[in-house]
Amino acid sequence: MISVRKFIEKINIERGFTGELRYDEPLALHTTFKVGGPADLWIRPQAGCFPEYGACLLRHAQAEGIPVFVLGGGANIVVSDQGIRGIVLDTGGWSGLSLTGEEVIIRSGMGIDAALDTLAAHERGGLEFLAGMPGSFGGALWMNARCYEKSLSDVVASAECLDADFQPCWVPYRAEDYGYKRSPFQTQDRLILSVRLRTMHRPETAIRQEMEQYHLDRERKGHYRFPSAGSAFKNNRHFGKPTGKILDALGLRGLQIGGAAVAPWHGNIIINTGNARAKDIRALVLHITEQVQAALGIHLEPEIRFVGDWPPQAPSP
Ligand SMILES: Cc1cc2nc3c(=O)[nH]c(=O)nc-3n(C[C@H](O)[C@H](O)[C@H](O)COP(=O)(O)OP(=O)(O)OC[C@H]3O[C@@H](n4cnc5c(N)ncnc54)[C@H](O)[C@@H]3O)c2cc1C
Repeated sequence: MISVRKFIEKINIERGFTGELRYDEPLALHTTFKVGGPADLWIRPQAGCFPEYGACLLRHAQAEGIPVFVLGGGANIVVSDQGIRGIVLDTGGWSGLSLTGEEVIIRSGMGIDAALDTLAAHERGGLEFLAGMPGSFGGALWMNARCYEKSLSDVVASAECLDADFQPCWVPYRAEDYGYKRSPFQTQDRLILSVRLRTMHRPETAIRQEMEQYHLDRERKGHYRFPSAGSAFKNNRHFGKPTGKILDALGLRGLQIGGAAVAPWHGNIIINTGNARAKDIRALVLHITEQVQAALGIHLEPEIRFVGDWPPQAPSP
């Protein structure tokens, strides 16, 4: 197999790459958990070349058998201490939005709060429920992020992604493609380029007041006190109560393995207390899953995604 370095040098000369590129880049710098070993190559194309360059990179990487991981804000992933082999394509340079009628098209790399701020300035409401959630719109669509009883899919009109031939295409929203923390992209391995969302006219002050309430609520719930990726486990209505309450009832709050702990103030948030390794987080998730299975016979599903190069003997949660 061609080396990643040779591969990217060839592509970049052919495609006129502009942006940032680093070898052996520690991914702890790019995740909200602040853990994760190096990527063989981390690359963040600038907006000017992003869609064409991304398509070219993915097509050639597939042909050469080089894996590519698409990184948004790194707010829902645990990258292994061994890092990620191949290429990490960071969408952070692909930012910006455009307003069309009552809808907005947001590029996948754009940060949630940055987009919401611009929308408020244009008196476009409807997305306030996302305020304060870390990450990008690409990651939020991939995850079908959900906050305050609303999912992103509730406001999606369509999404632009690369098709199987690496051509951009718009995919209209279909209710059956989405569910609780489920989107079609989780099974399709496609680069999301943009999302078109429904908005509505609303006075700027009302939008900003509502967003401020969500920010304050997240602060009050301790979301930003320590590095984390938000909720560690999915909720499941068949459990009868939120997962956090289940973990509380089993006395798992505060439980610590290495530098990873269940937040002492919230049963469903795992935090990096300062020097956590990815393996600590994984061991804690596994331990909790086993405890809950043994005590209640229910299987918790992690919401956080474990990505990268895990040792073969590491059990998966
Ligand atoms: C303090 C805190 C609070 C949080 N609160 C919430 C909450 O209330 N609700 C909630 O749902 N989540 C919450 N989260 C989790 C996180 O913010 C969301 O899941 C967010 O949508 C992740 O976006 P991201 O860009 O960081 O995705 P990443 O973590 O970078 O990636 C997540 C997945 O999406 C894929 N992906 C990202 N961008 C693209 C793209 N352009 N094309 C294809 N695939 C892509 C990645 O490959 C990966 O598989 C919270 C996290 C933190 C740290």
